[in-house]
Amino acid sequence: MSDEVHTVAIMGSGPAGLTAAIYASRANLAPVVIEGGDVTSKTDLPGGQLMLTTDVENFPGFPEGIMGPELMDRFRKQAERFGTIFKPGRVVKADLSQRPFRIEVEDTYGGTSYSLKAQCLIVATGASAKYIGFEGEQEHLGKGVTTCATCDGAFFRDKHVVVVGGGDSAMEEATFLTRFASKVTVVNRRTTLRASKIMADRARENPKVEWKLNRTVVGVIGDSKYLKGVKLQGTNEDEGVEEVLDVGPDGGLFIAIGHSPNSEVFGEQLALHDTGYIKVEGSTSRSSVEGVFVAGDIHDSHYRQAITAAGAGCKAAIDAEKWLESQEL
Ligand code: NAP
Repeated sequence: MSDEVHTVAIMGSGPAGLTAAIYASRANLAPVVIEGGDVTSKTDLPGGQLMLTTDVENFPGFPEGIMGPELMDRFRKQAERFGTIFKPGRVVKADLSQRPFRIEVEDTYGGTSYSLKAQCLIVATGASAKYIGFEGEQEHLGKGVTTCATCDGAFFRDKHVVVVGGGDSAMEEATFLTRFASKVTVVNRRTTLRASKIMADRARENPKVEWKLNRTVVGVIGDSKYLKGVKLQGTNEDEGVEEVLDVGPDGGLFIAIGHSPNSEVFGEQLALHDTGYIKVEGSTSRSSVEGVFVAGDIHDSHYRQAITAAGAGCKAAIDAEKWLESQEL
């Protein structure tokens, strides 16, 4: 146990957390970043969701594009340059009932767990895409299987892609993917869609979109690089029906069944939306607890982009700095 008291602790090392770190360290606040993630995991690495993407073509300043992990490495170096302290591990407990706040961290690098105190907290723990759990899903991530059409859609020009899900995300992704793909097949586990009528109609009216209803994905066929087929199984009234969707030599599978915000650690200490996303006051980054600021996907289920998360990280650091000043801390 450590009694170390930091001025600012930042939870999360994605674009939101690291942008907050760059701003806070340039303001001489020597922030500590608790990286989060698990180095032993394939899908939950420190650095966040960009660690799972290949080329990032829409982050301004990189006209040739940049690999997701390299972009995060650059964020990190920039934060380090101004004195950010990085600590490995995942926050497993946060006590916001007294100041300084106290957090307990489980060191996922295999070291011992530790605790630390902070006058001010920036929560940038992000959201994680939900997965279906079929065999081969994790192995094929980034190799034909993806959870982000905005990030990866352009790689599937003139290919057959499959989108799983029946909510607004799936409809949005399916419609977006028709810009690139030759065919988009939407797989939904029920006959009815959860999506809003307007989004569902837009997808329905698109001639490139085909439908496989009452189906779920139970596997994929492919090699270490490409996806050739998607195995479907019937649900509900089509229970038991099995088929393989041919997606050609190098098609794609987009899983769009929702995201879960990583807010469990706060329990009822912070005001949350019904969906688990953290509430903020108006257009600020202030949470319901004074001294706790929020940035990135943990409070934004709508935009979910690296650039919007980075912008939110900047806002949180500025809000935190002003608050610390007001408290004379
Ligand atoms: P969602 O509304 O929760 O929909 C998830 C979809 O995935 C549902 O069709 C669900 O099926 C299906 N699903 C869940 N688990 C599954 C599994 N294991 N296997 C197969 N299918 C599974 O999530 P979302 O679409 O990400 O939307 C989240 C929120 O963001 C919503 O409020 C939405 O309106 C909003 N959003 C808005 C926009 C927009 O307005 N532009 C765009 C995207 C998202 P069931 O229906 O059977 O449960």
